[in-house]
Amino acid sequence: MKRPIYLDHHATTPLDPRVLDAMMPYLTEAFGNASSASHAYGWEAEAAVEQARENVAALLNAEPGEIVFTSGATESDNLALFGGARAARGRGRRIVTASTEHHAVLGAAEALRNEGFEVAFLRPDREGLYAPDQVADAITDDTILVSLMLANNEIGAIQPIAAVAQLCRERGVTFHTDAVQALGTIRFDVKATPVDLASATAHKIYGPKGVGALYVRSGRPRMRIEPLFHGGGQERGIRPGTLNVAGIVGFGKACEIAASTFGEESRRLRLLRRRLGDGLGKTVDGVVLNGPALPDIDDRGELLGPERRLPGNLNVSFERVNGEALLAGLADLAVSSGAACTSAAVEPSHVLRAIGVPDDLALAAIRFGIGRFNVEAEIDRAAASVAEAVGRLRELRPA
Ligand SMILES: *Cc1c(COP(=O)(O)O)cnc(C)c1O
Repeated sequence: MKRPIYLDHHATTPLDPRVLDAMMPYLTEAFGNASSASHAYGWEAEAAVEQARENVAALLNAEPGEIVFTSGATESDNLALFGGARAARGRGRRIVTASTEHHAVLGAAEALRNEGFEVAFLRPDREGLYAPDQVADAITDDTILVSLMLANNEIGAIQPIAAVAQLCRERGVTFHTDAVQALGTIRFDVKATPVDLASATAHKIYGPKGVGALYVRSGRPRMRIEPLFHGGGQERGIRPGTLNVAGIVGFGKACEIAASTFGEESRRLRLLRRRLGDGLGKTVDGVVLNGPALPDIDDRGELLGPERRLPGNLNVSFERVNGEALLAGLADLAVSSGAACTSAAVEPSHVLRAIGVPDDLALAAIRFGIGRFNVEAEIDRAAASVAEAVGRLRELRPA
């Protein structure tokens, strides 16, 4: 089988070969339980976990003791929302989040509402952005937790979380951010941005699936959260359970690579994204950009203005085509559509709906997520494929 060109890096990323190499010993001879304190197998596993913890912390400029390993960002988001809200229950019952969050946050927020919390979902502007003032206005005396993602997984919108984190700090409200999509390509420093909780996952940064982390601030003000699980005392009791040593080692290696390629990788992705956008713009008409405007860049991919969109993200709709037919006609590309398949029907994604994209255009959207191993030739082939498929469909069914 000839594999399609992979342009869906917001869904998952391939394992970097260097990550696999780092993991292999812990899937084979070094199989110890990191909690086994009485023999060398345990010590070896524990040392590897602690090294990984340092690498993950370094990417966020956090302290190693502030990293809690989880099974992925769905768990991290749930731990942050449930754990943060329940621990602060005595202070109030209102939670503020946003309508374009990932389902892991939206679902947790809705479940908290069923537990008696009050949840406010902020509405974005047409680019998918939220203003710090809007968050400030939504915070009442009863508010205990704000959750706003750093960068969106569909339209790449980068939120002004430094300002939001600062105002939450001033109001004494816990601030959580889902930083999954931002890690490795945009700067995120928990010392410069006073977040209390932040979610990450390995498989979006060229690590393995099934392992993630929650950053839990331990400096002042110290963050307290209630665990979701109860068991042994692993991860300071915040997340008990035998550690996924090989996965954690892979996550650590993925973070180490991301830290060492940061900047260069973002510049390359911006150039490839511009190439894709230009390629489509030249060959197809009726292309509509969904989400924030692309930043001005120079020929090295360096920013010439503010960046409000993830470097590898492009989300566009095609006028006068049927979205399902379009994806079906793009068999040589692995991309995502602007649709969410619910059990009943194909519906436009909640993100595109929230930013006001009409349903027909949302269903004719394609999300491109460019990644580390993509090359220019693939981008050119992708643009040509899309142009051909759109042309073919419009010929079949002229407007
Ligand atoms: C992928 C993703 C998640 C879920 O992460 P898993 O590790 O797959 O559970 C959460 N938030 C965002 C923004 C994501 O892109």
